[in-house]
Amino acid sequence: MNPLIIIGTGLAGYTLAREWRKLDATTPLHIFTADDGGFYSKPMLSNAFAGGKSAAQLATKTATQMAQELNAKISAHSEISAIHPERHSITVNGQEIAYSRLVLAQGADPIRLPLQGDAADAVMSVNDLDDYARFRQSLEGKQRVAILGAGLIGCEFANDLLAGGYEVDIIDPGSRPLSSLLPAEASAQLQDALSKLGVRWHFGTKAEKLDRMENGLRLTLSDSSTIDADVVLSAIGLRARTALASAAGIDVKRGIVVDNQLQSSAEGVYAIGDCAEAQGKVLPFVMPLMQQARTLAKVLAGTVAELAYPVMPVVVKTPACPLVVCPPAPGTSGTWLVEQTEQGVRGRFVDGDGNLLGFALTGTHTAEKNALAQQIAL
Ligand SMILES: Cc1cc2nc3c(=O)[nH]c(=O)nc-3n(C[C@H](O)[C@H](O)[C@H](O)COP(=O)(O)OP(=O)(O)OC[C@H]3O[C@@H](n4cnc5c(N)ncnc54)[C@H](O)[C@@H]3O)c2cc1C
Repeated sequence: MNPLIIIGTGLAGYTLAREWRKLDATTPLHIFTADDGGFYSKPMLSNAFAGGKSAAQLATKTATQMAQELNAKISAHSEISAIHPERHSITVNGQEIAYSRLVLAQGADPIRLPLQGDAADAVMSVNDLDDYARFRQSLEGKQRVAILGAGLIGCEFANDLLAGGYEVDIIDPGSRPLSSLLPAEASAQLQDALSKLGVRWHFGTKAEKLDRMENGLRLTLSDSSTIDADVVLSAIGLRARTALASAAGIDVKRGIVVDNQLQSSAEGVYAIGDCAEAQGKVLPFVMPLMQQARTLAKVLAGTVAELAYPVMPVVVKTPACPLVVCPPAPGTSGTWLVEQTEQGVRGRFVDGDGNLLGFALTGTHTAEKNALAQQIAL
């Protein structure tokens, strides 16, 4: 019997394998990954630095341990180069391997800014354990980090690096941190808290050029100002890995398009996690992928199941300014109603009829997360 094949050992691939094994303990399972297949929790990458955690400490299980736990074969350092939906097979290292069903859990690639200058290739991004190990190593004995992007990941890294004793500059073409997720009052509080820790903000401008200097790197911005740094970290966003699916003729938009059973346009080929576009949305967070994995496990085990997202607030890991956000779906029309108290900000995003569609909470108001989540009209 051909195995169920999963491509990817991130949270999506491994969560699916665990959920499926609860329902089917014996059908052969073969998991392929381009990395070493160790299990780690990716959200920890942006708050492990101050705690002095090495990449090895973040990997809580090896591929061998995972294979045993999941009763699976795991092929690490094995990049899939093609999928053939018509033959129900994949190609890896020049060899064609047949599957019964195939799950794409390939994640997303960091978007790279096209920079000029002789050090453009020195820009780093941290999207997996190997990146994290390289980032830590590059900071040894160094002091100054310039972060491109004042979004969620950029602000989390900034808080973590400041707590670890580094100097941080943040560059963003917008006018405030987390501008796409937060009302202005909550952004202001986050900005203030990170400023007090020492962040130097550069809003309304973009990185254009990175050059090597005698003593590190020099970033030139579009407003002609310059920032000297030892390391430049890009946190400007991710793009779903869709190339394999696309080359196989599978429907791809911003992610691999799947239906409510997580099936792509190719029969027997499914997609979950950061590479998938379900219900018209790519949601690169842990809660959505858990929901997708639980649903798909049932589908693969032959149970009737349909993807339905609960309310999914995101806890932003900026201890300087505790923050929870449950953003309204992009393009939703409505208004932020914001109360500022001594405890922080309580922002409620409502439609014309007063229905709650999203919220943002800072400070001790974050304790209201569950109560507000229950009020959201799904
Ligand atoms: C720094 C950081 C902090 C974050 N913090 C939070 C947070 O606080 N809360 C939250 O909800 N979300 C957070 N996220 C997002 C969350 O971590 C991701 O949504 C999630 O981990 C994605 O998991 P994934 O399995 O889809 O992808 P990945 O973890 O990227 O896994 C993809 C896998 O596919 C494999 N692969 C890809 N292509 C191939 C191929 N051709 N052949 C073989 N293998 C292949 C890769 O090797 C890898 O094993 C954070 C993300 C980052 C980067």
